[in-house]
Amino acid sequence: MIRITGAKIHNLKSVSLELPKGVLICITGPSGSGKSSLAFDTICQEARRRYLAVLNLGQTERRATENPYLEAAGGLPPSVGLEQKVPQASPRSTVGTLTGILDYLRVLFTELGSIECKSCKNPVISQTLTEILDEIQNTLPLKTKFYVLAPLWQINPEGLRFLQAEGFQRLLIDGKVIDLTEENPPQKFSSCAILVDRLIMKEGVESRLEEAVRLALSLTRGVVWIKPLDKNQSELRFTRGECCPHCGTPLPEIRAEFFSFNHSLGACPHCQGTGETAEGLCPECKGKRLKAEALKVFLGSFNFADLAQSPLKELMEKLSSLKFEGLKARIFEGLFSEIKTRTSALIDLGLDDLNLFRPCNKLSLGELQRLRLAAFFGEKLSGCLYIFDEPGVGLSPMEKERLLFLLQGLIAQGNTVIIVEHDPFFITASQVVVEMGPGAGRHGGKILFVGSPEELISREDTPTGAFLSGKRRLFRRLRQTKETLKVGRFTIPKQVLLCLVGPSGTGKTSLLKELAEYEQAKLITPATPKGRESIVISYIEGLKILRELLASTKEARARGFKPAHFSFFTKEGRCPVCKGLGRYEIKIPHLSSLWAVCEECLGTKFRRDVLEVKFRGLNIHELLNLTVEEALSLLARVPKLCEKLTLLAEVGLGYLTLGQEINSLSGGERQRLRLSRLLLKGEKAQILLFDVPSIGLHFEDINKLLALFERLLDQGYTLVVADNHPAFALLADEIWEIKQGEIAFSGTPETWLKQKGPFARLFEKYLPLIERI
Ligand SMILES: [Zn+2]
Ligand SMILES: [Zn+2]
Ligand SMILES: [Zn+2]
Repeated sequence: MIRITGAKIHNLKSVSLELPKGVLICITGPSGSGKSSLAFDTICQEARRRYLAVLNLGQTERRATENPYLEAAGGLPPSVGLEQKVPQASPRSTVGTLTGILDYLRVLFTELGSIECKSCKNPVISQTLTEILDEIQNTLPLKTKFYVLAPLWQINPEGLRFLQAEGFQRLLIDGKVIDLTEENPPQKFSSCAILVDRLIMKEGVESRLEEAVRLALSLTRGVVWIKPLDKNQSELRFTRGECCPHCGTPLPEIRAEFFSFNHSLGACPHCQGTGETAEGLCPECKGKRLKAEALKVFLGSFNFADLAQSPLKELMEKLSSLKFEGLKARIFEGLFSEIKTRTSALIDLGLDDLNLFRPCNKLSLGELQRLRLAAFFGEKLSGCLYIFDEPGVGLSPMEKERLLFLLQGLIAQGNTVIIVEHDPFFITASQVVVEMGPGAGRHGGKILFVGSPEELISREDTPTGAFLSGKRRLFRRLRQTKETLKVGRFTIPKQVLLCLVGPSGTGKTSLLKELAEYEQAKLITPATPKGRESIVISYIEGLKILRELLASTKEARARGFKPAHFSFFTKEGRCPVCKGLGRYEIKIPHLSSLWAVCEECLGTKFRRDVLEVKFRGLNIHELLNLTVEEALSLLARVPKLCEKLTLLAEVGLGYLTLGQEINSLSGGERQRLRLSRLLLKGEKAQILLFDVPSIGLHFEDINKLLALFERLLDQGYTLVVADNHPAFALLADEIWEIKQGEIAFSGTPETWLKQKGPFARLFEKYLPLIERI
């Protein structure tokens, strides 16, 4: 059993619970009710802390590993957590770099790649002495008579004298043996080699063969020819990699960096490995990202870009078609199986259309989340606790089943899996459900239910039980329109809610991004911290008002404080020790660093004299610690601020504190924060686009979001969402089913369901959850 006693971090109200190991556990509840605080900030963090505590750390470090927010815990396995943060994907991170598959592919090319010789254009594979000997013995039939030859690309008198002095007397020139003691070799020839030995393939030849091959390799730059005397048998030519065994041209050394578009050795010099220039596709590499030399290295008939740019399914087919022998076969098997485990997890999660070079910043949020998830299914750990935040977000019903299968695979390997989820599919598929609530923030933080999903369905008194039992529903009043908007190649019904559905990777996000290129449309992404807009109050431009209030007090005027003093971003306001961070970093070698509270400002981030100034008895730090609801009652007489705060409360964020860092908010909270700014400031574009707006939302939150959408529709906007959540698919005014980037169906959800297409039928079972008014 995993035991947690008296957890108090954030809004948790001294929560205690016991969870069985080796099962699928689902933590659910409204947005802001404390699910992440329990799963990540308590269970996952405590497991990590314990791991750090067993390491021999110094005094300061140990203090940072103590947990003041937990009374006791027991039975915690080593934990792996995947939180849903806004990933800041750089254009250099791709599907292949993020999953690590490109690393394996690079080793495959380094170890097994053949180079096309730049002079004679022959493909060249480098081999070790053992591989060369193996191949000779495996290729030549018994009783074959053959020469072991050390090829010469040119002859000069000095070289000949050296050979004779070393005891080599015979050369094979254009198939004819020439004895140097009897005649002078011709100056012109097409092939010339030192005859190192003459052998017959038979048992017991091994040691003499090895000696001869070694000698030949040392006489040349690592090249040896094996020439059977029978003219019908073909000659074998080997190299250890320094030069071409056919013409002697030096070969470039194959190194892993050669195949990295993030390394100067491998990147196309024209586009620096991005494959694109400001004008579009790079004219030099045609989007292949690598230098021409690197693309001259082949596995079978494929170069690096051929494989990295193939959709994952095709990549697997191409790799499966490759054949290697001996040691190379063993190397190939090992690497291929690593690639296979990772790739099949991606394919299972419905990402088979992606390729390894696809930049992460071109992926939808759901795709990116699954990509990070897939990395975990490649590990073969056992006895661990995996904690995933909304792994099912953006998945179609089919893909959810595949994900469940993968999660069950982790459990079968001897692990425990905790998911934070709202989807009825995952709630009902779990063995244990934990429901947090009842509300958000201060109104949440309690455990309302622990038990099986069957029991939960009979509990109409919890927010989740109410929906699962059918007592409450997702609802929306439908809108109709005959007016349309023309955007590029699309005709969009005006001032209604349009929903794009379809399996992932089918082009919903690309379609949104295509629309977003027009001036009339704008993609609305969840709030992200930008520069000084890093806390809730500054995001809605209310911090300025608060600072002016403080600066206008008698105390502030007496000290000559300006509004700038009340910011932890300015030199005037911030704590001089931690520079306004409120904490400082402790670096531990080889481990991720820990943070400790700043002892000068005690985490308040402000200078001490700034904190002495108070408005209505509260200093800036205390004001920022107020929740939106508290601030509303305290600052009721500041209309400019109240307008903003009221809206935050209306979108259901009344429990956030003014100074809460945007980084610490869940996806759903950031979504609503963005919407409240939208409602406050308006937007020039007529059409607002949303990619998977259901992210992080409980049923109850979805109803709130739908209500916010109504306000935007009332203001005249047209809304387009890409989301497979049944609330949007079944409650939209119009639905477009996307297949391979094209609109395969457009019409009302009713007609869509009536046509009984294979994708539409997957949504029938969600009909009891919704109500159209
Ligand atoms: Zn060559
Ligand atoms: Zn290029
Ligand atoms: Zn400080």
